Amino acid sequence: MDFFLLFSFIEMMHISNVMCCADVAAVEEDTSSELSVGELLERANRDLTPDFDEPALIGGDIAVNSELDRNADPCTSRGCLWGKWTDGNVYIPYYITNHFSSREKAIITRGLESFSSVSCIRFRPSRSSDRDWLSIESQSGCYSYVGRQGGKQVVSLSRQGCLYHSTVQHELLHALGFNHEQTRSDRDSYIRVYWENIIDDMKYNFNKINTLNQGTPYDYNSVMQYERYAFSKNNRPTMVPIPNSNVALGKATQMSRNDIDRLNRLYKCCEYTVVRLDSHNSIQTHRLSHSHRALQLRTIHLL
Ligand SMILES: [Zn+2]
Repeated sequence: MDFFLLFSFIEMMHISNVMCCADVAAVEEDTSSELSVGELLERANRDLTPDFDEPALIGGDIAVNSELDRNADPCTSRGCLWGKWTDGNVYIPYYITNHFSSREKAIITRGLESFSSVSCIRFRPSRSSDRDWLSIESQSGCYSYVGRQGGKQVVSLSRQGCLYHSTVQHELLHALGFNHEQTRSDRDSYIRVYWENIIDDMKYNFNKINTLNQGTPYDYNSVMQYERYAFSKNNRPTMVPIPNSNVALGKATQMSRNDIDRLNRLYKCCEYTVVRLDSHNSIQTHRLSHSHRALQLRTIHLL
């Protein structure tokens, strides 16, 4: 059979992450005995004196090249997303420096790999030909830039306090483009911020910004949510859930369902592309949502 004729009968399907939409529930062991991510980050980043060559931090653990980036637009406005490969996956190169013990490396690797079971994100070891990549280092505290920066970008996971599953996931979500839950533009409907309890020069950490919510609800249990005493100057809460102040806040020890949902939506993990040749042997591509997949597969089988 003529190759092109064969091609016209068979649609070449790139189905990415078929499971990602239906089965995104986080499958992890119980880590409830761990401190929450907010407590860990605060403890690790308290009273830091960064080296001269390290970036400024905002929001506790977000690296910026300039303090002017404090209220930056969502990083997508400057093209911060990582690129998608033709198989529908997003491959993000990383290099783990030799600062870490094998046990510490295992924690980092587990965090990196946790994304592949719930999304189309695939962290993979870097190669010399990679243009953009994460350099995972033990610098002063836990921090990451928000989104792809271009070239090498440091994700710091200090050996003093940052090597936990939740903190690894938190910093990697920053690198993927996400910000803190408490800075969401709709947060005033879900938490009350007590400005009078916040350390004076930390108040900007509670400025609202246009975060990448992707239509997901405010999530007290997001791994990007700080706990209620974050940046407190008087041991009183700086943010409290409303209307029910007793709801647990910032107690996550791993990515929540909403964290995973918005990651899949931002990177369109649940879409797949059908590539086919039309009658003129021109390539046509069709982006389909996950819900169309069953119908499309049935059509293919009839052919
Ligand atoms: Zn953070």
